[in-house]
Amino acid sequence: MIKQILNNKIFKTISEIADKNEIEVYVIGGFVRDYFLNRPSKDIDILVIGSGIDFSLKVAEELGIKKVSKFKTFGTSMFKYKNMEIEFVGARKESYSRESRNPIIENGTLDDDQKRRDFTINAMAFSLNKANLGELLDPFNGTGDLNEKIIRTPLNPDITFSDDPLRMLRAIRFATQLNFELDELVFNSIQKNKERINIITKERIVEELNKILLSPYPSTGFILLDKTGLLNEFFPEFVNLKGTETINGTSHKDNFFHSLEVVDNLAKKTDNLWLLWAGLLHDIGKPKSKRYNEKTGFTFHAHEIIGGKMVVNIFKNFKMPLNEKLNYVKKLVELHLRPIAIVKDVTDSAVRRLLFEAGNDIDDLMKLAEADITSKNEAKVKKYLSNFEIVRQKLIEIEEKDKLRNWQPPITGEEIMEFLKIKPSKDVGIIKNKIKDAILDGEIKNTKEEAFKYMSNQAKKLGLL
Ligand code: ATP
Ligand code: MG
Repeated sequence: MIKQILNNKIFKTISEIADKNEIEVYVIGGFVRDYFLNRPSKDIDILVIGSGIDFSLKVAEELGIKKVSKFKTFGTSMFKYKNMEIEFVGARKESYSRESRNPIIENGTLDDDQKRRDFTINAMAFSLNKANLGELLDPFNGTGDLNEKIIRTPLNPDITFSDDPLRMLRAIRFATQLNFELDELVFNSIQKNKERINIITKERIVEELNKILLSPYPSTGFILLDKTGLLNEFFPEFVNLKGTETINGTSHKDNFFHSLEVVDNLAKKTDNLWLLWAGLLHDIGKPKSKRYNEKTGFTFHAHEIIGGKMVVNIFKNFKMPLNEKLNYVKKLVELHLRPIAIVKDVTDSAVRRLLFEAGNDIDDLMKLAEADITSKNEAKVKKYLSNFEIVRQKLIEIEEKDKLRNWQPPITGEEIMEFLKIKPSKDVGIIKNKIKDAILDGEIKNTKEEAFKYMSNQAKKLGLL
């Protein structure tokens, strides 16, 4: 640590200003934890015994930084320095009101502040004052818990979690990101206090879910969320995927664990958060569409369409963006069965239609479909994957030939009206669709010339020419 302080301009400046003004200052939290874990840190949290805002302004001035964001209600401020976010906070002694998570802030000591941190591994501090520069202040044995890979709270977890219920979710998020275990007391306390999560805004819940999804094995987090009962509090649709059923000796797979396996598979291939969401939600429509039939056993007819509709409601409920991200997830959920259907019958026209519908998201759709193969039978998996290779080849071939990825009709509605001398009407749409189908079915090439010839023939048949 000493070395880093001396080599790093930001720590050096903070240290000098702290001593000049006789203020006690520490680097605390995630930065210290990540230092011991050898992980890169995106941000640095500076704890000031006194006013964090006043101190930050002095540091900013020294560094020639003009833009400092101040959050007076929380007594914090932040500025960017060389791609890092430097956050300043005054030491607090906090008590929360039970109905909301807005704290009543009082000035506190280092000790007070460390007690109100979420976890022992996040409560460690390095001194930045010259007298004890680089000294580690670790009153709750965070380094021990780092070594043991365990998530513990500084205080009795019932107190820590009831002060701020988001911490229950953060416990599971850190366990997932770091591959740590929850201390038994922590686990039990989450189970006991789970209902308190409902006072937390959806935005903050989703922020943690996103971090879980972006972890190496997202399933770890969702399984803990489920076991503690937290998941059912804010995401019952997902808990509904759980369980199998057997009738007359036929059964179906557990779609909860299947979905998590799919997300784990995807996590190995992508850091696209929205593709991970698509993986999580691809079978969300299954419980609603489940039927049993003597002949066919269990079916989940149209679960992809029902799922697509549910995606919209889930995004709304979670206050997630209702823009092209939603459209993307919905589309992938709706199309997730298509590549596997094609594997069974790789015709040019089926591949063309898929390219047409998936557009630029075809590669992501293929990733999702591949991740969706979770059979325990290795030979079966191998066969599917090699068939997918064939589909991929075919996709490349057809894309090169027909350029359907972002397909625009070769003849516009206006051109149809002009050519046939007709007004806007149903016929325009009919002709347009016929041209599209002819191209996708490979009857004609994707060119203006062939499309015009085809249109003229069709119009004659319809008595329009
Ligand atoms: P990351 O930035 O990777 O999410 P982090 O530990 O830096 O991890 P932040 O949310 O940036 O997490 O918070 C910085 C520090 O502030 C934490 O290490 C912890 O000490 C404290 N902290 C953050 N949120 C809470 C909370 N809800 N309750 C108590 N302490 C918190
Ligand atoms: Mg941080």
